[in-house]
Amino acid sequence: MTQALFPRSFRKPYPTAARGEGCYIVTSDGRRILDAAGSAAVVSIGHGRAEVADAMAAQARALAFTHTTQFQTEIAERLAQRLRSLAPPPFRGSGRVFFTSGGSEATETALKLARAYHLERGQPQRVRMLSRRQSYHGSTLGAMSVSGNVARRAPYLPLLQEWGHIAPCYCYRCPFEKTFPDCRIACADDLETFVAQSGPETVAAFLLEPVSGATLGAADPPDGYLHRIAEICRRHGILLIADEVMTGMGRTGRPFAVDHWGVSPDMILTGKGVASGYAPLGAVIAAPHVAEAIAAGSGALPHGFTYQAHPVAMAAGHAVLDIVERENLFDRVTPAGDSLRRALRVLESSPVVGDIRGRGLLLGVEFVRDRKSRAPFPPSAGIAERVRQIAFDHNVAVYPIQGCVDGAAGDHVLLAPPFILGDAEIAQIVAALQAAVSQLPA
Ligand code: PLP
Repeated sequence: MTQALFPRSFRKPYPTAARGEGCYIVTSDGRRILDAAGSAAVVSIGHGRAEVADAMAAQARALAFTHTTQFQTEIAERLAQRLRSLAPPPFRGSGRVFFTSGGSEATETALKLARAYHLERGQPQRVRMLSRRQSYHGSTLGAMSVSGNVARRAPYLPLLQEWGHIAPCYCYRCPFEKTFPDCRIACADDLETFVAQSGPETVAAFLLEPVSGATLGAADPPDGYLHRIAEICRRHGILLIADEVMTGMGRTGRPFAVDHWGVSPDMILTGKGVASGYAPLGAVIAAPHVAEAIAAGSGALPHGFTYQAHPVAMAAGHAVLDIVERENLFDRVTPAGDSLRRALRVLESSPVVGDIRGRGLLLGVEFVRDRKSRAPFPPSAGIAERVRQIAFDHNVAVYPIQGCVDGAAGDHVLLAPPFILGDAEIAQIVAALQAAVSQLPA
């Protein structure tokens, strides 16, 4: 019988995952694979936590579903309060949370909310949603429009809006060929330049991943970058949207990555770690003034999803947060990330390891053909995929990505393990990557 499931790739065989246990995924033929990428920076509390499953089952028995046009639920209100209290101080008193079923829906919601905000305030000409090249904000068409991931956009270009992308903040391959601090953070000033050229009065919002996620492999901005961006947005009346679908919910060592720099955006997007993969869940956390513009204006955001604030996903979110709080898991991230990073230093002796970067438990390892010139391997060599394959042969799953240099060339892997990883897992990750780099062409 032919397979019925539409796969990610028709050319690639996928092992069958059967169970999850802590940092490991167990396959149907009994292999224990270390989930070193937290699947895709999703799994934070670890796999197979029965209390999350129990909470979801109890909620499904009590009330599996109700539509948000007809009812509200206490479980959704309480989770909104918990998320709001994790956001920076200006959100805490009267910010509002719009739940979605994942990150792309959160991005779509934020784009529409930004548009609606400006309409309510009598600025209908603000339509451009700016973002950065080499970024990723989701796979739906609005989210793809703001994404700057060249390869993922390419087939769909005729379907996308072209609102404009500014330079990425990627110090290892600075788009201005400068070095921090002499660069004076020229990449942030690129927003000012772009806004001036396109007319500040036409710009609705600027989206960014505070620490770059998959596309640039955890490129971490220098101090001052986010402040400058926030200041430019504020001065021009542009809403700042922090896409923390990957970086949020503790992944970089603070509840949200913007906390590292004390920057308070107008909206924060979350997903992935918010339910640690136990349920499809995301959210837009809107600052009080954003929600208030709608509340005091037309009174409703014309937008919605059937499954927003799904009660069973809410139960998963609560149970995950209960574990995070009880086990102080956010506090584990910085020391665990430091240990992993220290251990990864052995890779630096390999001529093909160009850069190891990131923050907390969101780390990237970039591979190069020549370390001195930072020249990448040709895309056809498929280096990131080869590293993934060799690491997998050593029972370690990493997240391979190509295109960090220009959308086509450049290879890296993302490491984003569950927050519960220990020394044994760190050693296993490093050993698998050592095996991989030793087999790459020098
Ligand atoms: N935003 C960022 C920063 C992401 O990393 C992702 C997914 O990788 C998304 C949005 C889209 O989230 P989802 O795949 O849950 O729709």
